[in-house]
Amino acid sequence: MTTIIDGKALGQKIRSNIAGEVTLLKEKLGRKPGLSVVLVGDDAASQVYVNMKEKACIEAGFNSSIYRLGSNTTTDELLNLIDDLNKNDNIDGILVQLPLPEQIDEKKVLYKIDPSKDVDGFHPVNVGLLNIGEDTLFPCTPYGVMKIFEEYNIELSGKNAVVIGRSNIVGKPMAALLLKANATVTICHSRTKDIPALCRNADIIVAAVGIPKFVTADFVKDGAVVIDVGINRLEGKLVGDVDYDGIFDKCSYITPVPGGVGPMTIAMLMYNTLKSFKVRNNLL
Ligand code: NAD
Repeated sequence: MTTIIDGKALGQKIRSNIAGEVTLLKEKLGRKPGLSVVLVGDDAASQVYVNMKEKACIEAGFNSSIYRLGSNTTTDELLNLIDDLNKNDNIDGILVQLPLPEQIDEKKVLYKIDPSKDVDGFHPVNVGLLNIGEDTLFPCTPYGVMKIFEEYNIELSGKNAVVIGRSNIVGKPMAALLLKANATVTICHSRTKDIPALCRNADIIVAAVGIPKFVTADFVKDGAVVIDVGINRLEGKLVGDVDYDGIFDKCSYITPVPGGVGPMTIAMLMYNTLKSFKVRNNLL
């Protein structure tokens, strides 16, 4: 029996719980969590993501401020805006939508964000804290995957987990979170030899490659849990990094695309913003 993981329902549940908590906290503290999202330029996909984030903020009862800056914005202009947001006590979370236009020094910008407001979890301070096993603001997509494991009671301790992909946004933090949960973790990437053989030894496979149907039936041992982070467009349809139909019968659990990991990312952004708000108000 294969269980299809319903990330849409779980993401919605997390967001509803957050909205309920925000109502109570607002009564108690007279303030609600605030998230600022900065979008530079006119990348179509980024605009869609930012609109989704704004909608999620409104639903959660957060204050949201969206800064839409022109595509010729300079690094200094962006650094000044982040400085203002860092100093603003009504802002608990700051997110700079990636990718940034070429002329902007992305590292400088991300490193300027106050780590306590870094709801994307990309600042080196938060990356470092995660890697020494501390609790901090974790990157939303891999953190969403961890929430899936928790919700579905998927045991991680002592399990063999293979993460395919080593990006700073998904692969590396995913591996660090799995390690923190006592899994034995292998990270595969574009130079790894014989990925199918490494995956066949895995109880859990997380695919974050960006190649449609990369994970096929010969990667998967019977009963494995397969998490598909990939979002790719193929012949006008959204597909993941996993050959869903080809591996379905071999898995114990599988995430669909869409409706698996995707909805968890925004839910965890809301979760991180609320967490930052609570820390700021000495509630955590
Ligand atoms: P990325 O391009 O930054 O990283 C891809 C990784 O895959 C790299 O580390 C690379 O080494 C590895 N890789 C590339 N080709 C490979 C190969 N042939 N064999 C083995 N490894 C290979 O991408 P990313 O930002 O980590 O995203 C990965 C996928 O996840 C994309 O499809 C992206 O759209 C999706 N994504 C989804 C969400 C979500 O919310 N569900 C969030 C972020 C990214």
